Amino acid sequence: MADRDVVALFKAELELCKVRPGETVGVLSEDRIRIDYAEAVLAAAEEIGASAIHVNVRKRPGSFFGPGNSLQGNRAGIEALKRADLVIDLMGLLWSKEQIAITDAGARMLLVVEPIEVLRRMFPTPHARRRAEAGERLLSAAKRLHITSPGGTDVTYRLGQYRVATQYGFTDQKGRWDAWPGNFLYTAAHDDGVDGTIVIDIGDMLLPFMRYVAAPIRLTIEKGMVTEIKGDGIDAQLMRTHMKSWNDPRAFAVSHIGWGLDVNASWEFMGTSPIASQSGGQDGRAFYGNVLFSTGPNVELGGTNDTPSHLDIPLKGCTLALDGVPIVKDGAIVHPEMRVEGR
Ligand code: FE
Repeated sequence: MADRDVVALFKAELELCKVRPGETVGVLSEDRIRIDYAEAVLAAAEEIGASAIHVNVRKRPGSFFGPGNSLQGNRAGIEALKRADLVIDLMGLLWSKEQIAITDAGARMLLVVEPIEVLRRMFPTPHARRRAEAGERLLSAAKRLHITSPGGTDVTYRLGQYRVATQYGFTDQKGRWDAWPGNFLYTAAHDDGVDGTIVIDIGDMLLPFMRYVAAPIRLTIEKGMVTEIKGDGIDAQLMRTHMKSWNDPRAFAVSHIGWGLDVNASWEFMGTSPIASQSGGQDGRAFYGNVLFSTGPNVELGGTNDTPSHLDIPLKGCTLALDGVPIVKDGAIVHPEMRVEGR
């Protein structure tokens, strides 16, 4: 039996996703992982008067987030989820062909992999959505994104080739993907459109390693590719080894770029909370005023790079401008349509 409080939390989330009586909610999970969430979704859907199905697959040895997922080749499972109105993904289809097939069929999809405490603390709001959509309008119209930092970052992204993705923690539009929780947005540059230097500074994050960087890493970026990773610390070493390990030159491509808007995200959570090991690092990705830099694939934004190597790297204290208009200044949101009073 699902915990009453957890069912209530999931019901509130399904209501934000505008699940209506008569709709179908599909749940995707593997093995017994987050089986309590699956039960809570089924119970919450029933309370709303929606029907629900649960596609539970065996976790394959060595499976991982995104393109390495355990749903690959499972035609019946994919077809069932394509027919749902809302799919709750408890597994992590992100960046995969399977995810794109399901959302292209019209299902809206919500990724839910963070611990309950994080789902609760960062519970989404319609206000957060309006701020993310204001950012989307600005980012969609921009041609040039420029980032600097006190540590030496100075990099330019030429924009216009790819779409903008928003995340605000719920989804009520046909075919739209989101993740609960987290409020931020991003796009990608033209394939050859990133040039400059990124300095990953002390205290910035390396995800999915779940580490705070202890010594600066200096990346040289030319025509959209990371061409040099400099730094004496263990973090630079791990980054070099990891990116090389795929034997895939596309692992060195620069991926999505954007900034965080979530006032309830905590930069310290990953380093101080006893339950941090259950988290995928959504606090860092969504943190209010961060710049989220990343390397690897761009299929989610309409590109062709589907390398399995993907690093998300939240940077603190940066300044980011779109066509010269300041959006983030020294790690604080300054644009009036996205700024939250008192932050
Ligand atoms: Fe990412």
